[in-house]
Amino acid sequence: MAVTADQEKAVLDKVPTGLFIDGEWRASSSGATFNVEDPSTGRTLLTLADATPEDGMAALDAAAAAQADWARTAPRERGEILRRAFDMVTARADEFALLMTLEMGKPLAEARGEVTYGAEFLRWFSEEAVRTSGRYSMSPDGKSRLLVNKKPVGPCLLITPWNFPLAMATRKIAPAVAAGCTMVLKPANLTPLTSSLFATVLQEAGLPAGVLNIVNTTTAGAVTGPLIEDPRLRKLSFTGSTPVGRNLLAAASKNVLRTSMELGGNAPFLVFEDADLDAAVNGAMLAKLRNMGEACTAANRFIVHESVADRFAAALAERMEGMTTARGTEDESKLGPLIDQKSRDKVHELVTAAVGAGAETVTGGSPVTGDGYFYQATVLKNVPRSARIMQEEIFGPVAPIVTFRTEDEAVELANDTEYGLVAYVFTRDFNRGLRMGERLETGMMGLNAGVVSNAAAPFGGVKQSGLGREGGAEGIEEYLYTQYVGIANPYAS
Ligand code: NAP
Repeated sequence: MAVTADQEKAVLDKVPTGLFIDGEWRASSSGATFNVEDPSTGRTLLTLADATPEDGMAALDAAAAAQADWARTAPRERGEILRRAFDMVTARADEFALLMTLEMGKPLAEARGEVTYGAEFLRWFSEEAVRTSGRYSMSPDGKSRLLVNKKPVGPCLLITPWNFPLAMATRKIAPAVAAGCTMVLKPANLTPLTSSLFATVLQEAGLPAGVLNIVNTTTAGAVTGPLIEDPRLRKLSFTGSTPVGRNLLAAASKNVLRTSMELGGNAPFLVFEDADLDAAVNGAMLAKLRNMGEACTAANRFIVHESVADRFAAALAERMEGMTTARGTEDESKLGPLIDQKSRDKVHELVTAAVGAGAETVTGGSPVTGDGYFYQATVLKNVPRSARIMQEEIFGPVAPIVTFRTEDEAVELANDTEYGLVAYVFTRDFNRGLRMGERLETGMMGLNAGVVSNAAAPFGGVKQSGLGREGGAEGIEEYLYTQYVGIANPYAS
């Protein structure tokens, strides 16, 4: 059943509109506010406090003051806070899903999927909290003992993008909590509501004041810049675009901060001549249309063997034509709006340029008229390899197809990008699948699978897609440093 206006109001009423600093919700020190808009209608959902640099510093003060006590809490206690938060988010899944649909636009069914995925980081790291360990060993010459210990890195600045409002936050907050780090979170100003609602859950789950602080702001650089320069900050974890990530890396070099960078992608989706074409089309629908194509993991370039390219294009187009565009709260919605006018204009510009350069539109190819920033699910074939759409992150529901003849050519095309986040490979030949894992320059690969994201797996890229990993056994390591203590020989008198 479609969501009613009363249901929307009920969830919005639960979202605190202030800044979350030292366990309290407060107004901006300047009194400034900003509006959060529904991308399906352009209407304002809520008006939030707009943090100033002073507010940012107050958040870091709180995080720094809470760090020592927080690092000393028992790992089990930290794990249990996360586990309670997992149970609470799961029990309130419909509420979180509706809030994400309202602020980000994705259809409710997809938002529910994100709640499951995002909550899983809470459960996973509730288990990892008690699994960090060090070692004690004898030095090779037998003359000393080596004690190796893991300690929390200290106060962290976490900066998240707008496309997955819950999961991008829990993927950072959960390992930081598990490791014993305090935090300042700066969510994207387009979708800050979910993080604020989530903070109320963590508070209720027992997270002490000052461990998590949230500064929503329309002046990201001005608010976070001084924190990055402050010697009390010890880590910067960023998810967002590669150009912003590069600048943040440069800024982080001043204090030699630990950094984790989850940046942009330009994922190749390879379909070999022996692939199960139905499975490839199913995988393509997920890899391309999840989140309306607004995902770093979105398949960006379809590299298809010339013998199956026309069949693949036709089957993909047929499935895409069934993707009804509608506000995410409507029952028939299969494809929500893009996040804003600028994003939709960019998608259309890439499509128009590709068609101008000789690509053929199999389906779609235009913005949807009316309210909101909807764009038709689009398939382009015979796309010239030099087209801009093959180089840039599309961040929209557009599948450009190029063809190849040999495996070497497919690999060369796939690796011909500055990005290296994820690749998708469809083939029935398992050896070839393994070979592709070895030959493709990406941090992740889906083998006959259109989705790779999993809280238990290390998510992250190589090349200009980033540094570090989130999730899996690796995820908590990003928030820990290794300390070694050299001990004199206990047998020496
Ligand atoms: P973005 O423009 O880089 O923004 C990301 C975050 O950085 C937002 O919170 C933004 O704040 C903040 N920011 C922008 N300029 C800043 C500055 N000078 N100093 C400090 N913070 C700054 O990216 P986006 O458009 O939100 O997200 C889309 C991008 O994220 C895509 O490239 C996508 O591939 C990438 N992404 C990567 C992953 C991954 O795991 N690899 C996952 C999801 C998304 P404002 O909102 O206030 O501008």
